[in-house]
Amino acid sequence: LDSDINFNVELRLGAGAYICGEETALFEAIEGKRGLPRLRPPYPTTSGLFGKPTVINNVETLCNVPFIIHNGAAEYRALGTDNSTGTKLFCLSGDVVNPGLYEAPFGITLRELIFDLAGGLKGGALQAILVGGAAGVFVGPEGLDISLSYEGVKEVGIGLGSGAITVINEGHDLRQILLGISRFFAHESCGKCYPCQLGTQRQYEIVERASNGSLLQGDLQRLTDVGWTMSDASICGLGQTAASAVRSALERWPQLFDRSIE
Ligand code: SF4
Repeated sequence: LDSDINFNVELRLGAGAYICGEETALFEAIEGKRGLPRLRPPYPTTSGLFGKPTVINNVETLCNVPFIIHNGAAEYRALGTDNSTGTKLFCLSGDVVNPGLYEAPFGITLRELIFDLAGGLKGGALQAILVGGAAGVFVGPEGLDISLSYEGVKEVGIGLGSGAITVINEGHDLRQILLGISRFFAHESCGKCYPCQLGTQRQYEIVERASNGSLLQGDLQRLTDVGWTMSDASICGLGQTAASAVRSALERWPQLFDRSIE
């Protein structure tokens, strides 16, 4: 495009931390500080990077801009659904034949993603699908026809999150997967606020007891309480979603936690 606008693009490498995907923690990291989320307000549009008004979007969003400028908004809006226009990146992992990153229009179903794009299931019958990454929600095989649009997932009470989809066949012990997710959040919590700092640790400990059959009296209630405390009282999205996968598994498959003294 012809334009008089000139600007520099500067790339900065981070040291690597899940929390630095949170926008204000990313500002801190770019400024050379420890990547901790900031309290809001002020919001980035008022005071962002180096205290300046900042527009921050992820790369996936920005990558849509050239297409819209070159082809027009109408052509972009022709993709996807009425309320979720365009395409979305879905990262398929786990027990599929061809794991990888797939770009598909909003509204595609889990079944189409797994069987048409990723080559189908690998190694056994479908047990569960984790939609939205570690901070996501488990659905069972009955969820294969969920429409992956904002309105489609809202209808069934889940979210799209990052678009990460993990497919799990019957050969896996879901307790071990929950243990991995809980360990991940306990490790990645930045520790700035107590609901998440302590909650992710307690969640990990209880899920560990569930995974080795040594749940204590009251553990399931504690797990639920800790989960809602993190969701309701944490400062940022990490703590607010750290219990999502565990909670959804507990609600959907309570038998996973049967090996208890309760
Ligand atoms: Fe840090 Fe967790 Fe609090 Fe976010 S929710 S600020 S990651 S301790």
